[in-house]
Amino acid sequence: MSAVNIPAIPDLGQLTDEITIFAGPCSVESPEQFEEVAECVASLGLTWIRGGAFKPRTNPHSFQGLGEEGLKIMKAVGEKHGLLTLTEVMDTAHCELVHSYVDGLQVGARNFQNFSLLKKIGQVTAESKKMVLYKRGLSGSMSEWLAATDYITDCGNDNVVLCERGIRTFETATRFTLDIAAVPVIHKQSLHPICIDVSHPAGQRDLVPSLAKAAVAAGADSLMIEVHPNPPAALSDGPQQLTPAQFVQLVDELRVLAAALGKRIV
Ligand code: PEP
Ligand code: MN
Repeated sequence: MSAVNIPAIPDLGQLTDEITIFAGPCSVESPEQFEEVAECVASLGLTWIRGGAFKPRTNPHSFQGLGEEGLKIMKAVGEKHGLLTLTEVMDTAHCELVHSYVDGLQVGARNFQNFSLLKKIGQVTAESKKMVLYKRGLSGSMSEWLAATDYITDCGNDNVVLCERGIRTFETATRFTLDIAAVPVIHKQSLHPICIDVSHPAGQRDLVPSLAKAAVAAGADSLMIEVHPNPPAALSDGPQQLTPAQFVQLVDELRVLAAALGKRIV
């Protein structure tokens, strides 16, 4: 057998032993709705809550989000429960506004190659170093993703978490095809943590637990999971959102899996 010299590959993604969960409703709909999810998230001892205030909807007649009103709800409820808040910013014109209300700024899949937005978010967060969660586009390659990350980091903020949220393929059984290989590839090619959004690729809530377990097993640094107090009444993404009870059960199961890997869920 010929000797092959394979260099050791440092596991750069294993930055900490923590797996951060970004849980919360797809859209912030009312103070009561967000409060109910926050109570659940805080009772589990988690750190972050997510929610959409500016929503990128395919159809302009669909619910577009509460805008600044939604940001106010997030800030008040987040502070009340000691939770950090994460929300999407869709427009360069809203970057300062969003930055003034929340702890983390999300770039959605549909803005994957909106380079002006990436630069503006990098500029707005350059001093605060607030986390930027940068989602992969529906048809974005990993090399395009890593290249464009520099639009943010070159402005002075390295605090970027990359988020795989499923890509478009020929498959229609799921909403998007979750590319779990993003975990090892990003760990090999980048120093940024990798988050797996398990809700948007699933499209249906019964698939969410399996995808979440797969993400933890694959070594993801973080998960995004949508949770709504009453999913059938949700104003966006109802079919894929977990109820608080389902989320509690899933976090219990993920904690066992994480512990087996020497990690903990936060
Ligand atoms: C979301 O996180 O609610 C969202 C709209 O995600 P994506 O950009 O991945 O579709
Ligand atoms: Mn959603």
